[in-house]
Amino acid sequence: MALHTGRHFLQIPGPTNVPDRVLRAMDYPTMDHRGQEFADLGAEVLAGMQRVFQTEGTVVIYPASGTGAWEAALVNTLSPGDKVLMFETGHFATLWMKMADSLGLDAEFVPGDWRRGVDPALVEEKLRADTAHAVKAVCVVHNETSTGVTSRIGEVRKAIDAAGHPALLLVDTISSLASIDYRHDAWGVDVTVSGSQKGLMLPPGLSFNAVSDKALAASKTAKLTRSYWDWNDMLGPNAKGFFPYTPATNLLYGLREALTMLLEEEGLENVFARHDRHAEASRRAVRAWGLELLCQEPREYSSSLTAVLMPEGHDADALRQVILERFDMSLGAGLTKLAGKVFRIGHLGAFNDLMLAGTLAGVEMGLSAAGVPHKAGGVLAAMDYLSGAEEAAAPKMAAAGD
Ligand SMILES: *Cc1c(COP(=O)(O)O)cnc(C)c1O
Repeated sequence: MALHTGRHFLQIPGPTNVPDRVLRAMDYPTMDHRGQEFADLGAEVLAGMQRVFQTEGTVVIYPASGTGAWEAALVNTLSPGDKVLMFETGHFATLWMKMADSLGLDAEFVPGDWRRGVDPALVEEKLRADTAHAVKAVCVVHNETSTGVTSRIGEVRKAIDAAGHPALLLVDTISSLASIDYRHDAWGVDVTVSGSQKGLMLPPGLSFNAVSDKALAASKTAKLTRSYWDWNDMLGPNAKGFFPYTPATNLLYGLREALTMLLEEEGLENVFARHDRHAEASRRAVRAWGLELLCQEPREYSSSLTAVLMPEGHDADALRQVILERFDMSLGAGLTKLAGKVFRIGHLGAFNDLMLAGTLAGVEMGLSAAGVPHKAGGVLAAMDYLSGAEEAAAPKMAAAGD
């Protein structure tokens, strides 16, 4: 491989670029996790995460990848043989379904074409038909990272209510939290699952559950085997800022810094607007290249990544390899069903206009270098949009305590 100078472009949709100041914030001696100094940190990051989830309810932090928080959401609320309703929106929804299956749940997997999100009307129809209330939980991936499609969680909630069904609503926000507007309380979500390495701009290693009172009540009678993931062991120590076992102390230093950036400095609304804008600029580039977006539903376009279909007869992985070797940029691969067929541009986390312009330039040069048929001008289309959208470009200062 060629020698590379300057910075690597890590434009996969997670793990994302970790800001230098977050790295610096972790570069401190690990403290006593039973001492008061730790309790202050624990309480601060738990409170900050409530604001990120837009909840006043319980938040739990695990030293684990996002997959651990998926498991926690299921084992704390459900019992062996419980029926759960899941939707095949893509690779991550499929993995969560397989986990439910392997835990002994009865997962109904509603088929999908990997190009659109969960259809709220179908949720309502399925739940209306379930007059015996056999379905105990509806599980939805908010932002399907394999496809660049964002499901409409508020509308899914309304569908559950319209059916008058008591099922819990469990939502994976691993690649949307702190990038795309998400409201745990307002949308009546029972368990929200998330992870540290995407919108939160941290290295991998932390994951989260936000938990409604209804889900907490369900955990009192849920019978799936659980130990490490048990919310009830967390809540007592968490109330004082402590953990029942050794927390990932240094990652929590990083989380504190990231929360300062997101909540105190930029403000969540500006964070969301920035991601929307970068996603729109990316789509304009894709259209100008004459390539096709994988997402077929404009109101479900993801703001944290864009998945692009390759022209017939051209391999996405060959293109990604050329881009990596020539321009030192990593793009997301097509996963399982989409292997070789799509590449994914991550534009979430610590990111700005010039990083996006550089990213899109790398793609456009790569398309040429790899001999993929396309039109020139994608980067220009994105730049026109980015330079014209001046109002959105000037972030408002977040009001203190906002
Ligand atoms: C990244 C991701 C996961 C997996 O998280 P890990 O941290 O790799 O365990 C699950 N769901 C979605 C939507 C993701 O983007």
